[in-house]
Amino acid sequence: MEALKSLVRSSYYWVARMPGIKLLSKPWKGTGAILCYHRVLPGERVRSDVSPNRGLAVSVERFEEQMRHLSENYNVVSMDRMVEHVENGGKEFLVAVTFDDGYKDNFQYAYPILKKYGIPATIYVITRFLEGDTSMWWKELWERLAEVGEFEVEVCGERRSWRTQGHSAKVQCFREMRKILLGSEKEIYLDLLRQISGDSPKQYPEDCMTAEEARLLDKDDLITIGAHTHSHFCLASLSENEVAEEMMKSREILEKALDHPVMHLAYPYGKPDEAGEKDFRIARGCGFSSSVVTKVGNISSGHDAMSLPRLEIKDQLDGRRFEGVLSGFSAMVGR
Ligand SMILES: [Zn+2]
Repeated sequence: MEALKSLVRSSYYWVARMPGIKLLSKPWKGTGAILCYHRVLPGERVRSDVSPNRGLAVSVERFEEQMRHLSENYNVVSMDRMVEHVENGGKEFLVAVTFDDGYKDNFQYAYPILKKYGIPATIYVITRFLEGDTSMWWKELWERLAEVGEFEVEVCGERRSWRTQGHSAKVQCFREMRKILLGSEKEIYLDLLRQISGDSPKQYPEDCMTAEEARLLDKDDLITIGAHTHSHFCLASLSENEVAEEMMKSREILEKALDHPVMHLAYPYGKPDEAGEKDFRIARGCGFSSSVVTKVGNISSGHDAMSLPRLEIKDQLDGRRFEGVLSGFSAMVGR
């Protein structure tokens, strides 16, 4: 069974094109796909990044190839249209393009390509970035690990230490720290951030979109600015009040900056153990019309608009692999 599964995984494109499979009309394809991007950067920067964050970036060249493919083969729509489609049980296959966090490169590199191909996109912005707090533990932690041969933190009075000599040991430590951070309640999380950064966390203004850039993008009908909470905490670790506060604050800041209602939200991190029913309910209560998770999968009619799945798009997805992901087949076989 495992061997068969592995064969299917390694040949999903070939299997997806089999005549018998075509007759099944690809039931896994559903009626839509929401693509999830984070960063679009020059190729040499993507290729030289060996950090665990490298999966967040797609090269400019790859992004253009993917957008060209979408414009030639698919109907790409805004999130407003996608929500309407999901709620009305539309049968046509639609695609939406989204970006998380609000990186400056979305404005610098992705936007001109979106314009060139007339592709609508939604950018979910961490609003503390717009207010000048551009710290990112996922960048700073890796920079620290790159420099040290040993790393230590105290979690609830218990000392945790790692030997971090060599790349794989550093990656392992990063992954374990990510798990500890995202699984910790707010106060413990903040204490861990202090242990990583000291009292003044490193700022990355060169990586983050400014309020002015968000406003410029928002003026174009192709671009929708959505909320991604204010601080980018893992919502599963917050109380109901804290979650509502994070969502409302980001919405208010954006509405003030853009001068119109902000209707779409993306949960930070957004995997099933990082955003759940409690958060979906609160997002609805806050008045958002849609919310996306990072659970991998395509859309089908009847999906809850407060937990729409997405497909994570990586730099290695060349033409046929990109098509395999869009078809929903790779998500179905867990690839
Ligand atoms: Zn995010």
